[in-house]
Amino acid sequence: MSAPTGSTWDERDDEHIRDACGVVGIYGHAEAANLAYLGLHALQHRGQESAGIATCDGARIQAHRGEGLVADVFSASLLSRLPGHMAIGHVRYSTAGGGGLLNAQPITARYGGGTIAVAHNGNLTNAGELRQRLEAEGSIFQGTTDTEVIVHLFARSRATGIEGRLLDALRQIEGAWSLTVMTEDKVIGVRDPHGVRPLVLGRVGEAWVMASETCALSLLDATFEREVAPGEMVIIDARGLTSRRYLPETPRKACVFEHVYFARPDSTVFGRSVYGVRKASGRRLAMESPIEADAVIPVPDSGIAAAIGYSEASGITYGMGLVRSHYVGRTFIEPTQAIRHFGVKLKLAPVEEVIRGQRLIVIDDSLVRGTTSRKIIALLRSAGAREVHLRISSPPITNPCFYGIDTPSRSELVAAQHSIEEIRASLGCETLSFLSQEGLLAAAADAAGGFCDACFTGRYPIPLADYRTAGEPDA
Ligand code: SF4
Repeated sequence: MSAPTGSTWDERDDEHIRDACGVVGIYGHAEAANLAYLGLHALQHRGQESAGIATCDGARIQAHRGEGLVADVFSASLLSRLPGHMAIGHVRYSTAGGGGLLNAQPITARYGGGTIAVAHNGNLTNAGELRQRLEAEGSIFQGTTDTEVIVHLFARSRATGIEGRLLDALRQIEGAWSLTVMTEDKVIGVRDPHGVRPLVLGRVGEAWVMASETCALSLLDATFEREVAPGEMVIIDARGLTSRRYLPETPRKACVFEHVYFARPDSTVFGRSVYGVRKASGRRLAMESPIEADAVIPVPDSGIAAAIGYSEASGITYGMGLVRSHYVGRTFIEPTQAIRHFGVKLKLAPVEEVIRGQRLIVIDDSLVRGTTSRKIIALLRSAGAREVHLRISSPPITNPCFYGIDTPSRSELVAAQHSIEEIRASLGCETLSFLSQEGLLAAAADAAGGFCDACFTGRYPIPLADYRTAGEPDA
């Protein structure tokens, strides 16, 4: 759960917290590896540190994993060496266990009954406890991820059959998990009973597809069937799809931050359009925090939908005041001290036509450390902005996430340390407002109900066994 350190450009994109992972699963398609590749490509925003695909032709599971973007990890010839009608895949931004190839997924392991491959989006909150116990009983771990704990629990289970072993493992873990699992003859999708992370089910012809978000289904021309339900296990094999609820129904605690920032705006997540929720958040923000101004501009890309909503509700013209460079990669070489002052200008360029002499309402989706916002505001001022009013389309982040999102510790979260007025003064804007807690939940509301909002409230809905032991959160 550590905040990233180092010297790449991406690490200075500190205005956002980062997602953990994306997963896919394919059953019954002659080009399963290619479908998994495309699905991961659509989910690239959920993790850029490593990518992996495991396939199976009914007899043997083969896998390839590598560090970097999906397109860098896989070539056409590599994909052609991953045969089979089944596949699972994973993109990763490290949370638990750190980065590195050793922790790239899918994890594959041999056990008494064959081979299993597992891809995990989420974070287990009792993995440390379980790992200690497993190691004391003789288990040898290859990497440091919490996902490996699931594999060990599966392999050591005395239950019969794949489903029995998996159920045995799932009943011991706590936290957040959306898993795709593959054995020699099945692809299985599982969601934790609170449904913290998304997982959807679709079809391409006769084949089945599972993915973290519907944007992956869209790319594959797959039809959306439904979400995998919280606490549900779907098993897809030669007999078709069977579903079982493996843990009793629990109040849903979907991650509201999927709507705020993580998910792609063209996805439907937890039954709602991400774009629609972001736009509704912007509309509510306009009603809660109105201000006289000449233009509403987003911090692209994640502030765009909320800025459109704010503009519509306020009647103030929407403008493209900042242009984002899409060519600043994660491996951007750190500038030397002499040119480091270019800072945020490498990523965002001001459009003077929109900015000069104007009173601006600037919409961003969230505020983490505040350092990038300060640079953006300075950039707008240097381009001639007369006033800058910062509006954040989510509440202040005051607590870290332990359910699969990489957030800084509380000491680095600016809203956990300072009042809104102190933050405003430090950022250098005329006014600063956040969307209220009620406003966000109302914008994201759907028929299924509950959301996790612990990073805004500190009310953690799932036990934090490991972290309480370590004394980390004040949950
Ligand atoms: S703490 Fe925040 S980021 Fe983490 S699952 Fe809950 S709402 Fe999502």
